[in-house]
Amino acid sequence: MRYFALILLIFSGTVLLKGQVRIRLFASQSPGSVIFRVTAGSYSMTDANGNPLVVNTGEPVLISRFGERVAMKVRNREGYVYDTLKIEGLTGKDNFSLSINGSIPLLRVYSGDLHCYYDLDNILLINVCNVEEYIAGVVRTEGGDGRNSEYFKTQAVLARTYLFRYFEKHAMDNFNLCDDTHCQAFNGVNTSLAITSAVEATRGLVVLGADSALISPAFHSNCGGETALAEDVWLSGQPYLKKVKDPHCTSSGNATWQKRISLSDWIAYLKKSGYSGRSDNPGIFAFSQPSRVYDYRAGSFALPLKQIRNDYGLRSTFFSVIVEGDSVLLKGRGYGHGVGLCQEGAMAMALKGSDYRKIVDFYYNGVIISDIENARKPEKVLLSGINKSKAGSNQ
Ligand SMILES: [Zn+2]
Ligand SMILES: [Zn+2]
Repeated sequence: MRYFALILLIFSGTVLLKGQVRIRLFASQSPGSVIFRVTAGSYSMTDANGNPLVVNTGEPVLISRFGERVAMKVRNREGYVYDTLKIEGLTGKDNFSLSINGSIPLLRVYSGDLHCYYDLDNILLINVCNVEEYIAGVVRTEGGDGRNSEYFKTQAVLARTYLFRYFEKHAMDNFNLCDDTHCQAFNGVNTSLAITSAVEATRGLVVLGADSALISPAFHSNCGGETALAEDVWLSGQPYLKKVKDPHCTSSGNATWQKRISLSDWIAYLKKSGYSGRSDNPGIFAFSQPSRVYDYRAGSFALPLKQIRNDYGLRSTFFSVIVEGDSVLLKGRGYGHGVGLCQEGAMAMALKGSDYRKIVDFYYNGVIISDIENARKPEKVLLSGINKSKAGSNQ
């Protein structure tokens, strides 16, 4: 990546909506080779001398690292080596598939162009695609299929907000966002009509805070009945990321969890974490959390719940501790960090008839949904402060 000069990306809603986004593919796998196939439309590529090379639909093209360059080989033909390999769609409705072998073989379909570079012993695969097609792909990946259209609209507005807020997140590396949960999970094109129409119905719409700046649209799987304060989870808070009592998610799939730990292990863990009080009266370790708090408490001892969650790999920090004989039972609610929008609550709201504006308004405090044209130009955005979790992930 050191080879690439910093490119300056101009923030302009109009330019971006008509324009394209550069997404790094297979960011968490970092493949050394990939098989490319045209699946729709047609693509132009050239041999190393700049002469056009025709590849048929479905014909496998092996793209791999070659020294510090990129090699391309079509079966039974001569191979070529490039500094940059650009494979560009010609019809405007061009799709290609990429497959990688690895511990988990993957096959994914994308639209638009593919640019390939050598990068630190791997090939850097960048998909240059239409912004709204990218949004639809993110909604499919993050939100799943077969759900209510108002829920898809909610996800579309959040994904678009994230894209524009963090548009320069990887600008130093010559792309905008990666396809991993580090940015937004993106597993390629969307084929669901329900998602396509939800994205179209919210075209260009984003969530703005009271200062007209794009919000950081944090979300998580299930809040357990109350969302968390951002400053309790990360270093700083946001006026729009406040606690919300959520009656919508409490009978959903990730509403509750529990974990049993032996009393002696629990006491040993607390001692290791700084507890120096008595342990002959186990009742002192009982802890009730009807509403979210920051610390677990035993007598005058306090330990941040997020540290316990992290140390035990728990689903949430929203749990109580019940002492039962020679063990403790952690009775927990929700899944994820709890900040911002609760996905299972949002789904339930959508099913009960709320539209996406009402859902966004419920989970984010004092925001408006507006066209990207109305967003205040971002100042330097702090990139590392906010993480997101998709449904089922353990963040
Ligand atoms: Zn990223
Ligand atoms: Zn909830």
